[in-house]
Amino acid sequence: MKTKRIAIIGAGPSGLAQMRAFESARSKGEEIPEIVCFERQSNWGGLWNYTWRTGLDENGEPVHSSMYRYLWSNGPKEGLEFADYSFEEHFGKQIASYPPRAVLFDYIEGRVLKAGIRDWIRFNTPVRFVRYNEDDETFTVTAHDQVKDSTYEETFDHVICASGHFTTPNVPHYEGFEEFKGRILHAHDFRDACEFAGKDLLLLGSSYSAEDIGSQCWKYGAKSITTSYRSAPMGFKWPDNWDEVPALVRMEGNIAHFKDGSSRHVDAIILCTGYKHFFNFLPDDLRLKTTNRLATADLYKGVVFINNTKMFYLGMQDQWFTFNMFDAQAWWVRDAIMGKIEVPTDLNVLKADVEERIAREDAGDGDKYAIQYQGDYVKELIAETDYPDFDVQGACEAFFAWKDHKKEDIMAFRNKSYRSVITGTMAPAHHTPWKDALDDSLETYLQNELVKEKEKA
Ligand SMILES: Cc1cc2nc3c(=O)[nH]c(=O)nc-3n(C[C@H](O)[C@H](O)[C@H](O)COP(=O)(O)OP(=O)(O)OC[C@H]3O[C@@H](n4cnc5c(N)ncnc54)[C@H](O)[C@@H]3O)c2cc1C
Repeated sequence: MKTKRIAIIGAGPSGLAQMRAFESARSKGEEIPEIVCFERQSNWGGLWNYTWRTGLDENGEPVHSSMYRYLWSNGPKEGLEFADYSFEEHFGKQIASYPPRAVLFDYIEGRVLKAGIRDWIRFNTPVRFVRYNEDDETFTVTAHDQVKDSTYEETFDHVICASGHFTTPNVPHYEGFEEFKGRILHAHDFRDACEFAGKDLLLLGSSYSAEDIGSQCWKYGAKSITTSYRSAPMGFKWPDNWDEVPALVRMEGNIAHFKDGSSRHVDAIILCTGYKHFFNFLPDDLRLKTTNRLATADLYKGVVFINNTKMFYLGMQDQWFTFNMFDAQAWWVRDAIMGKIEVPTDLNVLKADVEERIAREDAGDGDKYAIQYQGDYVKELIAETDYPDFDVQGACEAFFAWKDHKKEDIMAFRNKSYRSVITGTMAPAHHTPWKDALDDSLETYLQNELVKEKEKA
């Protein structure tokens, strides 16, 4: 029988999870399909692959990463740990609970280096288009090899889209933006908080970007932070120079006017206004159209595209769980492709699954419900594959504790420690409180010698 060919679009954490899933089956002696992963960046890691660039990359492609210097994990690492590759296995010891970006990149990379799947990836190769061929039920993928500057087509039996959804910014416009005499940028283009030291900063939005970019700018010396919300304030106990105000109405020069009639001077504006699911390389009949939510539209089991069940999407949900959820999805998709899991063919059955998930999400209220909802989803998927069973409920508990710690002290929650649900080990306290740790390098983060020195002193 002809070996199936699988195209994976993107070598971020989701695409890498998919390759690791296939490699895991191969390592157990199973015959796996031929895998080709198309990655438009020159390296793997997706958003975790930091670049100083904004706008276009060295190949003229949109810069993918929305991450910035000094970014530390915004949730405890105990909620995202791979069940088949613990932090202790990677670093040779347990590490503190909120690693900076470089440390998490190293961890993601460690697992796939061990798996030896780099050869499956074609770097600097954006997918330009995908077409479904009704006659022989295959997909034609058009890709662009940027190094050779050559465009080519190849045929595949399945396409797995793992291209992420935190890259294409949602950019609102307000009266007076054209005349504003400072910098206006979207969170996607934010790179270094030091740029805003000594400045009065306005951030539009009330979700993670506003909270985290505001916190970075506060930490690195912004004069004042104002966050402006449309529906509800974030409601944390902010430092003295941080205010939350209702929606922006207009700018007049450098004066921002808000819905409650208040106004204030600002030097720069950061639009923390979210991202769009954006797939300009897919035709209408294959393109997922969804908002950022836990139960995405049109995905059976959160991964199978109901309008063409040979097409899969990974990581398209709003995310509490990340790396381990991508694993749960990847193992499930692998088994669906390898015929170990049967995907229904009746569109009504597929739709009913999506509707049930949407209704269950809509019935909930609050973050704890949402965390449990997504934890239950991870449990559901891993129960159907051979992904190493782990204490998903324990990971939910870590997230619940994290939410409480943020409420207690938004500028100190990253000093807390949690127990690994994979190895059972408690994370050590980090050697420096987050607000004083200005160097986010891997070397400094892992430097336990500092702790010993402090203990001796
Ligand atoms: C600012 C920010 C901070 C975050 N912080 C955290 C955190 O602290 N902890 C956490 O767990 N999660 C965090 N996340 C969530 C993040 O979504 C996940 O951690 C993870 O990166 C998602 O992986 P992914 O592979 O689905 O997508 P991505 O990481 O976006 O990777 C997608 C890949 O697809 C490639 N690609 C896209 N289009 C094409 C194409 N046409 N052809 C070829 N390749 C293509 C991209 O180049 C990229 O490599 C954060 C997200 C953002 C934006």
